[in-house]
Amino acid sequence: MIHIQNYIDGVFSDPIQNEWIDNIGPADGLVYGKTPNSSSKDVQAAYEAAQKAFIPWSETSIEKRSAILLKIAGLIEANLDRFAAAESKDNGKPISVARAVDIPRAASNFRFFGHAITQFYSESHETKSEKTINYTLRHPIGVVGCISPWNLPLYLLSWKIAPALAAGNCVVAKPSEVTPYTAFLLGEICNEAGLPKGVLNIVHGLGSSTGKAIVEHPHIKAISFTGGTETGKFIAKTAAPMFKKLSLELGGKNPNIIFADCDYEKMLTTTVRSSFSNQGQICLCGSRIFVEASIYEQFKIDFTERVRQLVVGHPSDESTQIGALVSKTHYEKVRSYIEGIDPTESRLLLGGEQVHVEGYENGYYLSPAIIEVDSNQCKLNQEEIFGPVVTLMSFTSDAEVLAMANDVKYGLSATVWTNNLKRSLMFSEKLETGIVWVNTWMQRDLRTPFGGVKSSGVGREGGFEVLRFFTETKNICINYK
Ligand code: NDP
Repeated sequence: MIHIQNYIDGVFSDPIQNEWIDNIGPADGLVYGKTPNSSSKDVQAAYEAAQKAFIPWSETSIEKRSAILLKIAGLIEANLDRFAAAESKDNGKPISVARAVDIPRAASNFRFFGHAITQFYSESHETKSEKTINYTLRHPIGVVGCISPWNLPLYLLSWKIAPALAAGNCVVAKPSEVTPYTAFLLGEICNEAGLPKGVLNIVHGLGSSTGKAIVEHPHIKAISFTGGTETGKFIAKTAAPMFKKLSLELGGKNPNIIFADCDYEKMLTTTVRSSFSNQGQICLCGSRIFVEASIYEQFKIDFTERVRQLVVGHPSDESTQIGALVSKTHYEKVRSYIEGIDPTESRLLLGGEQVHVEGYENGYYLSPAIIEVDSNQCKLNQEEIFGPVVTLMSFTSDAEVLAMANDVKYGLSATVWTNNLKRSLMFSEKLETGIVWVNTWMQRDLRTPFGGVKSSGVGREGGFEVLRFFTETKNICINYK
């Protein structure tokens, strides 16, 4: 049994009220450990440790802060197999994915922001006629809260923690209680890398208690949150009267628009990935596929055939391409969409069935589902399912597909497949999303702004954008006449 503990003031500790949550492995449905069910008292202890560490950390030279972050990155890489095994066990994702994507990306986050902070700059403006110089300072905010979801546990947690620390803040972080394991391991690495105690504090527990206590804490001055839109609404409502800085990365229902003039083979291979990577549990997955009518029937045959070949299996099996869904609750939520298909407006073309993996019959395995829909207005196209489920629909004109792509409350990302330059420029401009991919998907450059519009969030992560978020801006005007 794994005994996960809070990481507060550089020390591992049990929750003050000694309350615990079972960790359940999605691959077999069995309890494999316990996680603190922390209360507001634990959050307060984490806050106090962070507050105490803040002045020394904020005054630590950029070179030193950078060196520690680079060391953390190196240690994550050195422990790649251990971290990948933990992530896969906790989340149900194939070990090959955890090893090739999640953990290397967590290391990259620390390395990237370790370097980025050495290049971060502020502005100065001189007005000779009035003999003034304005210059801008960007100071760390203080103690900030970072709350992250279960789908890419360490990857998304480090995407917040690394820039917050690089900019000189101290952090109270809460990973999802469903997937706490790699965040727990990160504490050890931070101590080994020489991160001063109290600079990073990780408190485990439920969103509705531990997460809420972070959001409601009067002296935690900024909240960086990634998760569902409903939780985002609660956080915005709670934090606004306290005038906290907020960054909200929320849900998505992303269109994948395929024109007949695209590079068909590249599109097909990528579309299988963009539909079902991580069991479809990535906020960037293209869950609404729109295909130009002239190639629709061919695409339907080819796509269905490719998806049929995906191997659903135990996450630790190297040949597995689709692992287990993260939890029983989530599995049942995804299944309910499939069971609720209305035959008058949609048809299940493939999958959506429970898969019995030999020896792991209680795991949460679902075969990837393709559903043909008649209208973009149906529930399957309007609600975020966040699982291995995509819909297919045909279109006949640019205007029609653009209207459908935008006719949804979310606006995180979109993918467009075309070799027509004018069309790709037009769609890139008109799509109501924070991110557009043309002839590719999820090719990430950490320097670029990341985030959504509409119900997909507020603010941008990535590059200097997030360093601006994690700093307070002060302008100084000097008259030297
Ligand atoms: P949730 O919103 O349920 O949870 C996200 C985090 O917030 C978890 O740590 C959760 O804790 C915590 N939380 C829950 N309630 C509260 C609360 N009242 N106050 C403070 N914290 C709270 O999302 P999921 O974990 O289910 O993640 C899936 C969602 O995340 C999807 O909608 C997905 O689209 C979105 N997402 C968005 C991304 C983006 O970049 N835009 C990227 C990845 C995912 P606990 O788990 O313990 O409840």
